[in-house]
Amino acid sequence: MGGGVQWKQPLAIRILHPNGGLTMVFVHAITKASPVVRGMLEPPKQELRLNVPQEGFEVLSEWLLRGVLDKRCTQAGTMADLHRLCKAYEAGVILEVESGFLDKVLDCIIDCVAEADHLTISDIQHIAHALIKTFEEESGGQQFLRAWLILGNMERAKHEVGFGKAIARLIQRASGDIFPLSYCRRLRETSRDRNEELSWVVDRCDYHLHGPEEGCE
Ligand SMILES: [Zn+2]
Repeated sequence: MGGGVQWKQPLAIRILHPNGGLTMVFVHAITKASPVVRGMLEPPKQELRLNVPQEGFEVLSEWLLRGVLDKRCTQAGTMADLHRLCKAYEAGVILEVESGFLDKVLDCIIDCVAEADHLTISDIQHIAHALIKTFEEESGGQQFLRAWLILGNMERAKHEVGFGKAIARLIQRASGDIFPLSYCRRLRETSRDRNEELSWVVDRCDYHLHGPEEGCE
């Protein structure tokens, strides 16, 4: 037994989810990672009811156990994988989990969508709406989404009817509706023409939560 575990505290704790699901996690790991849970475990309890998406919490509990994200995150490629990653991010934000976890999840989301050359307009709309819902305004995740909509290679979708307008609408939404549609449309056309470097390839730390002192894990 680890020296930091008090005799009154259980080693593992049952996490109850709103849909009736259950996850077991080690007390020392979850309290170290989440100040929210730490506060809820004063005084110590055997069981906690957490209002976080279970699917996302399972990603977090796996990361707490092994220190890495599971294969379904790191090799994500389907909409179901992306959905799971978004839920993991959501759970991490609610529980105020350290930036190491959130930055890793964001990296997996970027890997999952960045190479969008096989996606249709409808796929891109689905992804953009999921990311708009997941990331808070002006967060690194939302900055990535905007950059991706403007600069991303959407080889297949761009041949579909209505591509320019559909993407301009998404850029507008991802910018909080502050720019007119025509401006959003021009933004993509002119930026692609200039052959700008892709920010998520050059330096992802621009999107990360960790500070300059902490550096990337
Ligand atoms: Zn970083």
